[in-house]
Amino acid sequence: MVDLYCSGCGVKIQTEDPEMIGYAPASALQHKPVVCQRCFRLTHYNEIQDVSLNSDDFLAMLYRISDKDALVVYLVDLFDIAGSWVPDLQRFIGSNPVLLIGNKHDLFPKSTNPNKLISWLRRSARGQGIDPVEVLLMSAGKNHGVDEAASKIDVYRKERDVYVVGSTNVGKSTFINRLIRNLGSGDSVITTSRFPGTTLDFISIPLNDGHHLYDTPGVVNDHQVAQHIDTRDYKIIMPSKEIKPKVYQLNEGQTLFLGGLARVDYIGTSRRSLIVYASGALLIHRTKTEQADDLYKRQLGNLLAPPGKDTHLPPMVRHDFRTRETDTDVVFSGLGWITIKGKGAFVSAYAPKGIGVSLRPSII
Ligand code: GDP
Repeated sequence: MVDLYCSGCGVKIQTEDPEMIGYAPASALQHKPVVCQRCFRLTHYNEIQDVSLNSDDFLAMLYRISDKDALVVYLVDLFDIAGSWVPDLQRFIGSNPVLLIGNKHDLFPKSTNPNKLISWLRRSARGQGIDPVEVLLMSAGKNHGVDEAASKIDVYRKERDVYVVGSTNVGKSTFINRLIRNLGSGDSVITTSRFPGTTLDFISIPLNDGHHLYDTPGVVNDHQVAQHIDTRDYKIIMPSKEIKPKVYQLNEGQTLFLGGLARVDYIGTSRRSLIVYASGALLIHRTKTEQADDLYKRQLGNLLAPPGKDTHLPPMVRHDFRTRETDTDVVFSGLGWITIKGKGAFVSAYAPKGIGVSLRPSII
């Protein structure tokens, strides 16, 4: 096949992978001019479709932002904060200001203190070398906080361009589609335009003063469980509504399995509460630690599911630690977290190799 390029955004057309940039179904190549599916959806349905790039391509693109004078809107997924940071983002965006938005706030129990969540987000952003001008909580899916985000963007951009960045699955396309609808813009307002100097192009949305808001492709983050399981299992582990915490009183030598995707052994000391924050559809199984290895071998894909029987996950890796803070969250990237109440608990956490496991002071 001769190389074809999209007449909307200029990207090289491919017909193999619908998830990757430049995809067009083979049947669409007969129509001239040829456009990629992303541009087709944008012009015909007014809809942004997220596409993925591998990290190297993505970061090369992002690097161009460092030469611009712009506001960077950085979306992270509140359900998977650790897993949704874009590695080394600050190197690629230069000294441009960052407005940090935590999305999927609707998943948090109503009792959550938003200020605690905002401080935690700010602190973890600093740990990543990012000092946001402001941190907002939002639920793009439920259209909560989207208008506030839009007006903050307007305040902080100070008549400059805007770049929206984030990992895949954080809700970036949901957010941008909301923005477009909330702004009430008709078809004519949205255009595709080339990002100078690249072949992998950003989609741009014209703003009222001649500047643009650019949607950047989501960076695929391998630390997320979602990258390792199929769509059916993803639907089980991704909460669709407010998380109901599940409290377990554990004695020493007891284990909790989160399906077959994660495991926590409570080693000691003394009886204490562990609170699981995860999708209600994910089965939590309690057992004696001395039986846990055997159970995992026999029941992975059956009692301990997801993953389904046919999914080949990397082997489980054990992480040992002792909690220091009063209440500590053990976070499994994309799966949820377990709050260990009280300090000085000895715990071993297991997750498939490569899946992020981290600790943080309890955020709820
Ligand atoms: P993108 O890859 O960053 O563009 O993410 P999408 O917009 O495709 O969203 C990824 C998933 O998160 C989809 O299943 C969305 O329905 C879901 N999602 C997006 N925003 C929200 C939200 O505010 N709350 C919840 N609960 N889910 C959301």
